[in-house]
Amino acid sequence: MARHFDENKLVIASHNPGKVREIGDLLAGFDVGVVSASDLALEEPIEDGKTFVANAELKARAAANAANLPALADDSGLAVAALGGEPGIYSARWAGPEKDFSKAMQKVEDSLKGQDDRRAKFVCALALCWPDGHLETFEGAVSGNLVWPPRGTNGFGYDPTFVADGYDSTFGEMDPDKKHHISHRADAFRKMVDACFRT
Ligand code: IMP
Repeated sequence: MARHFDENKLVIASHNPGKVREIGDLLAGFDVGVVSASDLALEEPIEDGKTFVANAELKARAAANAANLPALADDSGLAVAALGGEPGIYSARWAGPEKDFSKAMQKVEDSLKGQDDRRAKFVCALALCWPDGHLETFEGAVSGNLVWPPRGTNGFGYDPTFVADGYDSTFGEMDPDKKHHISHRADAFRKMVDACFRT
């Protein structure tokens, strides 16, 4: 049985403004004040885990320890079938130190040259860690296809190249509310909310 979350403050263990915004939106209906790792000037731990869950865990543990507050971390990325799941846990790193996602999307496209198989999925691992070290983890995914050229300016990261199964718009063209219903993050969130936030 998962531990129930009944604290009134939560650190979002991320320095990525796109992610912090989406997680804040997803938590909006709950009576919890959120503060980000950037707001608290927390150090970013080295993400040396080999899986999404391992990286989410190390980020949540680092923030919960440093802030002495419960912390929620998201580790996520794009897994492209024809690239054996790459960029995967290295999705942020494919954008280089300047975090240029036009470059990262171009790199995916160049790696795919000549391949008909454009299937990809976004994966999200969430780790919720309490200051006493208790941890709960959840995983979510959304499957779709990559399009080229990128379309739309909403969202962040690889959103302009990803079309979820059953839709025509990319995540970059989609209204954020709609993305929040179908995304990998929404899927993982539903699992976390059912396990830890519902009364
Ligand atoms: P990390 O989890 O902070 O290591 O980085 C995850 C990276 O995956 C982000 O910087 C994005 O490039 C990509 N990513 C994760 N979630 C999304 C999403 O919802 N849309 C687009 N890109 C995403």
